[in-house]
Amino acid sequence: MPQNILITTHYNPDGDAIGASLALYHFLVKQGHQVDIIVPNELPSFLTWMPGNEKLLIYKQKNDIAHDIIENAGVIFCIDFNALNRVKYYSDQLAAAKGFKILIDHHLEPSDEFDLTISQIKVSSTSELLYQLIQETGYGDCVDLPVAECIFVGIMTDTGSFSYSCEKPDTFRITSELIRIGVKVEKIHRLVYDTYSESRMRLLGHCLSQRMKVIPGLSTAYIWLSKEDLEAFDYQPGDTEGVVNYALSIENIVLAALFTERDDRIRISLRSKGQFSVNDFARKNFMGGGHRNAAGGDSFLSLEETMTKFESLLEGYRDELMNNRKS
Ligand code: 5GP
Ligand code: MN
Repeated sequence: MPQNILITTHYNPDGDAIGASLALYHFLVKQGHQVDIIVPNELPSFLTWMPGNEKLLIYKQKNDIAHDIIENAGVIFCIDFNALNRVKYYSDQLAAAKGFKILIDHHLEPSDEFDLTISQIKVSSTSELLYQLIQETGYGDCVDLPVAECIFVGIMTDTGSFSYSCEKPDTFRITSELIRIGVKVEKIHRLVYDTYSESRMRLLGHCLSQRMKVIPGLSTAYIWLSKEDLEAFDYQPGDTEGVVNYALSIENIVLAALFTERDDRIRISLRSKGQFSVNDFARKNFMGGGHRNAAGGDSFLSLEETMTKFESLLEGYRDELMNNRKS
């Protein structure tokens, strides 16, 4: 029986959020369902080539239409996030919506706000989990090229191009199945990673040469960007994606952070190596969360104060930081 289905994902959607949402969209439409996708805010331009991009409804731009859709959906798929507040603008509305809420996600500690929770933290990405679900429920033959491309984008971006969160053979088995379906790895890699604007590339240079502090004694490096920095380099959504990873690429750095000044907050992106949990660190200190080695949070102090707070916290983590140097 055709259902009225809503797919939604988290604020500041990334490759896995969009990949899994669009893959599910293509899959459900093929099964004859009426499907809408609501994304809280704009996605980075390196994802707008994806099949089905024109179907995404951006809440921030069309909240009246989005309201009706949320209210009338019979089933609501919540993709790649673990608590309703991660959609930011319409979490209360989602909570009140009558539709049956199904979570498909791979973040730690999912909340109990969903009617059905499909959460698996040992997969590379929500996209990989979705692929497994499609296979296990007997719909493997329905994975056509658009579905495969979207799932591939999710796996590729959430593993940093197969460099982390991909210790399990399943990730590569599934990837090889996607390639067999027709996914062109080189083409997709280029579409996602080789589309920097000149100003984005120069912003990266600015971050590394002028806005990075390295604290070798605490195995930590961080980068900060003020509003003026962003304006000077004509910042577009997605331009700081991946910046924090450069700080983590320094030898013996275990904890890396990126502080970005926004209108109403300082946005914090955290990455770590080994057992050091930035999920715990973000939850305890910056009202955030995520995964063990990749997390985010917010601060409502000034940029300066946020960095001072961050530095003052490090001493308390000294042993943990030093112990993870060679892991
Ligand atoms: P990013 O640094 O790329 O924005 O986020 C890294 C990871 O942490 C992503 O998997 C994202 O879903 C998660 N994350 C980022 N910000 C938050 C936050 O404020 N709260 C929670 N719970 N997770 C976050
Ligand atoms: Mn993800």
